[in-house]
Amino acid sequence: MHELGLAEEIFKNIEELAKKNNLKKITKIRIKVGEQAGVEEELLEHSLIDHRFPGTLAEGAELEIVQEKVRFRCPKCNQEYENITVAKCNSCGNENLEIIAGTEIYIDHLEGED
Ligand SMILES: [Zn+2]
Ligand SMILES: [Zn+2]
Repeated sequence: MHELGLAEEIFKNIEELAKKNNLKKITKIRIKVGEQAGVEEELLEHSLIDHRFPGTLAEGAELEIVQEKVRFRCPKCNQEYENITVAKCNSCGNENLEIIAGTEIYIDHLEGED
């Protein structure tokens, strides 16, 4: 099993970010993966390091994949929650909490040489 399609997508973002920062070589990458993003972190790591990075500017880069907890926010009073079992806002009782983190994958940090 692989996460090759996803690895491809992430790699495009990495390349763009490197270009924007005039990096010729990438040495360190940190990716945040939401706990509800539906991604196997180990597979993603393998797909990037063993299949996507070799022969590119990210070859040999240190890859760190960090899980991001799901966070909710109450749109009425702006209270934030990290507990996935929270069904309504404890401060105002609003039952329509928004998910503000933990469902996406993004590049959190990129380091390299220009
Ligand atoms: Zn493989
Ligand atoms: Zn509230």
